Amino acid sequence: MELKQRIERLKTVQSDGNVHPCPRCGFRVVHTRTALSRLADVYICDQCGMDEALRAENGHELRLDDWNYGAALAELETEGPDESCLTCAHRDVCLQRGLALFLLFIQPGRYEEVESAKESLDISAQCDHYKAEKKGV
Ligand code: SF4
Ligand SMILES: [Zn+2]
Repeated sequence: MELKQRIERLKTVQSDGNVHPCPRCGFRVVHTRTALSRLADVYICDQCGMDEALRAENGHELRLDDWNYGAALAELETEGPDESCLTCAHRDVCLQRGLALFLLFIQPGRYEEVESAKESLDISAQCDHYKAEKKGV
């Protein structure tokens, strides 16, 4: 399945009435009232929507594989996850970890803890990719 189609599958999840991390930047919030991307049929945050429009005018659009979620999918395919988020090569692009940071620190307003949590949060015990790899699936 093409990357575009894989990213577009997120739209169903995004339509569940909750807020979700933006698949383009990975941190800001999307819901069904934010912008739809011009590159894929999926919601992106308002700031990414504006950035996309500006880039389209200048002919410098961000490719889907440079999106936070696109890069995470590509890296998981090529390298697989690591045992701990702290040593995992996917840490900075991992949507699962980005969602955990959002739910644990950004949504409850614990903004001053976000930077240290980015360095130290380890959710590898709940990492589906890692579990699948451990079981040899
Ligand atoms: S949740 Fe899994 S894939 Fe994501 S950073 Fe942690 S170990 Fe890596
Ligand atoms: Zn965004």
